[in-house]
Amino acid sequence: MTEKREKPEKIRCDACPVMCYIADGKSGACDRYANHGGELVRLDALTILESTDQKLVPFMKNGGPDDWDGNIVQGNRPFVTAVGAGTTYPDYKPAPFIVSQEVEGVDMVTVVTEGIFSYCGVKVKIDTDRHIGHERDIVRVEGEPIGHVMTSEYGSKMLSLGGVEHLTGGSKAEGRVTCDALLKLCNREAVNMVIGEDDHQTEIVVQAGRAPVINGVEEQLMRVGCGSAAIGMFAKQWLGHVDEVVVVDDHITGVLSEHEAGKQLDVPRTGIKIKGRRSTPGRYFQVADPGTGWGGTNIEDPLTILGPFNPKIAWAGLRLLMVSTTGEQFAYFELDDDLVPQPAEIPQRLKASADLIAENCEPSVCSVLFMGGAGGSLRAGVTENPVRLTRSVKDSLTYVSCGGAEAFVWPGGGITVMVDILNMPQGSFGYVPTPALVAPIEFTMRVEDYGTLGGYTGEIKTIETIETARTRKVAQFDGQPDPTDHANYRWAKGRQ
Ligand code: SF4
Repeated sequence: MTEKREKPEKIRCDACPVMCYIADGKSGACDRYANHGGELVRLDALTILESTDQKLVPFMKNGGPDDWDGNIVQGNRPFVTAVGAGTTYPDYKPAPFIVSQEVEGVDMVTVVTEGIFSYCGVKVKIDTDRHIGHERDIVRVEGEPIGHVMTSEYGSKMLSLGGVEHLTGGSKAEGRVTCDALLKLCNREAVNMVIGEDDHQTEIVVQAGRAPVINGVEEQLMRVGCGSAAIGMFAKQWLGHVDEVVVVDDHITGVLSEHEAGKQLDVPRTGIKIKGRRSTPGRYFQVADPGTGWGGTNIEDPLTILGPFNPKIAWAGLRLLMVSTTGEQFAYFELDDDLVPQPAEIPQRLKASADLIAENCEPSVCSVLFMGGAGGSLRAGVTENPVRLTRSVKDSLTYVSCGGAEAFVWPGGGITVMVDILNMPQGSFGYVPTPALVAPIEFTMRVEDYGTLGGYTGEIKTIETIETARTRKVAQFDGQPDPTDHANYRWAKGRQ
């Protein structure tokens, strides 16, 4: 008779609504919690920042606690982040860590939790002139819609990705793919996206801190200015070396002889004709369609934006430089006897001016900003009266950080934060399959203010007593404020 094998006992994780049953030695659906011998453990280490002038030590997801000797009060001032802190669910429970320390004679407290954000997404800024999609074009990953193209900014294209509409408002696959894409972007991984419909599609690879790859080509430069601005900035470089300059731009193409800069420098008229909508002298809109060619237009031959030169003004031998907004594309022409531009070898002096435009451009990079709303349930982990926390934040009595990084708090109601993920420790984000993103958030204030807003003062632990077996110490990023610095608070500015 065979012996009946005993099934290993499962424990139930109650850190999110999924409520996984987890067998011994296994982890739950999100890989954040595991059953270690019947004990529910958070797998990532609690991350503690120190204000030092060292660079941040990368957060190694699978690293052990040996990276640090466990002394959290040695040297510089520590700050307990919510990375690896765990989540409170259901919402009546206090935040996992409520930690006090004295800072320059004032008792401060930091309330940390890994928030489950159903209302969250990322704003992506992509430094490029190239057209990646029309405003409102859909962004897809694995065929699922995860966001859309927003209005362009100066030298950059903008995407809005994620949000509750994609996480919960579409199909199950849409929610899963959106959550996965957000998680990768927030944890600095690359995501392949397709923008637009069948008749106008762009493939793009986005990764925080890296140049975008657009239709297989890695972008190099971010423009120093629009076509009109480039004319103004570099007009003097061209004086005496060329008769006409056109800076080709999808938004505002500049023409030296007509531009105010050219007029003030006494550049004579050339009889040039630009196809497109004239805005003001020397500034033209819509000279071509958007694309991945010169200056974010769809053209590869710049002459296609020119009409015939005016024979009453132009002259044979007229010297014409055409250049893109990043200086990466340039061409030199001279008018023949029929006043038709003919390609000619570019003089060194003019080549140097195109190089100067390129030199003034910055490296193209993708920026990923996490944006999420700390809802009432998350705030309930800080205080039994969540609206008081909102007021305290608006009153500059409570400082909000995400993984220790400065968070911009939007005006108006609620606590809607935006943070540059590159200022946060690597691997700061997780997910739960509801689906939702898990992001660290910390609220720091005076202990007396915490009491006033109805905080769980009975749960406060001093920083020296924080269990150190699964903690990791990393250095604060250069330029990031210390969340406990008095300068962050209204009371330190003489306003009570
Ligand atoms: S998904 Fe993760 S947090 Fe949620 S119950 Fe399962 S293990 Fe716990």
